[in-house]
Order: sequence, then structure tokens, then C-alpha cells
Amino acid sequence: MVAYRDFITGFRKLDIDPSCPVVAHASLAAFGEVHGGAGSVLDALVSAFNAVIMPTFTYKTMVIPEVGPPDNALVYGSGKDTNRVAEIYHPGMPADTMMGVVAEGMRTQAGAQRSSHPILSFAGVNAAEILDAQTIDQPLLPIQRLIDDEGWVLLLGVDHTVNTSIHFCEHLAGRKQFIRWALTSGGVVPCPGFPGCSEGFEAVAPHLEPDIRRIELGGAIVQAIQLVSLVETVCGMIKRDPCALLCEREDCERCNAVRASVIAL
Ligand SMILES: [Zn+2]
Repeated sequence: MVAYRDFITGFRKLDIDPSCPVVAHASLAAFGEVHGGAGSVLDALVSAFNAVIMPTFTYKTMVIPEVGPPDNALVYGSGKDTNRVAEIYHPGMPADTMMGVVAEGMRTQAGAQRSSHPILSFAGVNAAEILDAQTIDQPLLPIQRLIDDEGWVLLLGVDHTVNTSIHFCEHLAGRKQFIRWALTSGGVVPCPGFPGCSEGFEAVAPHLEPDIRRIELGGAIVQAIQLVSLVETVCGMIKRDPCALLCEREDCERCNAVRASVIAL
């Protein structure tokens, strides 16, 4: 069993300047039995780092319109059933279960704040300026703010397929982005700057090897990478190969739309 103290000790071993902000992604289950559960992981994160954010995305607000712009990796009019069960976004909406119990715990952590994007919100502690950087048109600007502040990505028992910052690198590299739509109390809101598919992101791992810091904890791996290194590596990969980090799934609409946009250039 691992506990709060083990996370604190582990985070210290990563040798990250505690004044640097972090964006964390976590699977509690990966650590086996954790004394105190998600709360222990959260307390350790908040204690070890000056500012911490986590994605608290709410895909359940998404609706598919009847019509929309072309080349958007979306079958317009196909949402007749799913639109009916979509939920209106509100600031107290729980993060989707796929975000994990640690992210959801961050949202309700004492002193936590949450950004207001109806699909791609982040929650964090001591991170008001980072969260405020988000706009409806540029949902991943909090990551730019982290880059500016020499921030780090922490992967707690998860791999790069959940590393949201790679999406921001794709944006910086000029990769095609998408528009999605969210149900809000003010009606259906278009959300541009929506990222592509992350299923192929683990292919970045060997390229990050010189810069990654890693510890083992409770049978899980904790990895840390400074954002400036991540940006340099991912943008370099996409510059060399505009289809880098796309997934292999033949019917992946977003990866195929990116491939088509590359051919069109
Ligand atoms: Zn894909």
C-alpha cells in the first residue's frame, strides 16, 4: 500500500523546482491500494508543487448539429440519439469519469478553481492566472501559460495518450484543429480549437527519453517532462513528418482528417 508520504517522497525524487506549475494526469487504480485514496494523491500534489492543474473535461455537454463547416471529422445530423442525452454545462458539473477520480477530486479540492470552457475545463489550486488564460476559441491556452512559467507535465500511472499538452503542441505546430459544439445555459455554443485524436501519442515516448524523469511508486510509473522539452520534441516530430503521432485506426475520423489536410497542402 502507498500513502501520502510515499507520493511526497516520490515527487521530491523527480527534482522539479517546486515553484514551477504542473499539469497532472492520474490513474489512481494504477497505484494499487492507496491509503486515503485520491485525496492523498491530491494533498501530495498540492503540497509538493506551487500550482497544479488537471483536466476536468465534460464531453457529455457535446451535441452534433445538423450542418456545419466541412472537413470537421464529424457526421452532421448523426447526433439525434446522443443529443437527447447531452447535458447542459454548469460550473459544478463533475468531470467525466474517464478523467479519473483524482481529476474530479481536484475540482472539489479546498481552494480549487475551475476554468469555464463547457467541454475542456481545467481545475487547479493556486492556478487562477493559468486557468484564466483559457478562452472559448483557444481552450488549451492554460498550457501556454504553463510553458511561459517553466511548467511540467506529470503522468501518474498513465501514458502519453492522456497527455493533453501534446494537443497544444499540435496546435503550435500548425496541425488541423476542429470545431465541436456544447450545450450551455445560453444555448448551443461553438467550440473551435478542438484538438484531434490522442490514441497515437505514446509514439512520442522514445523521443522524450533524454528529458524524461521517472520514478516507480506502488507498482506504477510516475513520469515528469518539462513543457519546453515536450514542445520542442513534438513540434520537431510534426515538422519532420506532418502525420507524426496520428493513430493507426483506419476509421479514425480526426486522424484521417489531419492526413487529408496534410495532402491538401
Ligand atoms: Zn486517431
